Amino acid sequence: MKKLLIATFNPNKAREYQEMLSGIHLECMCLKDFPNAVSPLENGKSLEENALIKARYAASFTGLWSLGDDTGLEVFSLGGAPGIYSARYAGPECNPQKNNRLLLENLKGKTGNERKARFVCSLALVSPVGKEKTISGITDGMILEHPAGSGGFGYDSLFLPDGFSVSYAEMSAETKNSLSHRFKALKLLIPDLKKIFS
Ligand code: IMP
Repeated sequence: MKKLLIATFNPNKAREYQEMLSGIHLECMCLKDFPNAVSPLENGKSLEENALIKARYAASFTGLWSLGDDTGLEVFSLGGAPGIYSARYAGPECNPQKNNRLLLENLKGKTGNERKARFVCSLALVSPVGKEKTISGITDGMILEHPAGSGGFGYDSLFLPDGFSVSYAEMSAETKNSLSHRFKALKLLIPDLKKIFS
């Protein structure tokens, strides 16, 4: 079976892509499957640049078609923060709990439209010979005043997608995957992936 390398060391992320791409005959691998792989420096100025940095590294290191992704949570009343810094919002010692706490603190006293936010996911598909394509997917929503739900990861318990009355963390993986920023981006790449992997 042909292999698509997901440019991450997180096998859970690779599994999530495998599930979302179940209609295409391919096997998703991740960088953990390559003992000498390292994390490239993510010093891009945008989500798209970071997705490209990851996919370019993975494709040149392994010689496989590679998919890089980078996600940011953008809160409008905070000027788009945490955005590209979503993973390390609370500084060098951050973790998801600290990031979420800081986000709630920075939104203290803000109500209604001041809590409007969106998840943006940029994907970069890079071939072994350096052909490149990038696309993005967006899901709009609001930041809740208190965490809700225990599923998911990252900012899931604080994000209420538009049109829903439950947070990402209260949804089944199946429901979240059908509306998520990552899925919307991936959907745009499916015609390319079908051509490459058929
Ligand atoms: P990454 O680009 O996937 O590494 O994600 C950047 C940051 O956004 C990390 O803090 C993730 O936890 C968070 N993040 C990415 N995707 C999601 C999601 O689907 N739900 C909640 N948080 C996410």
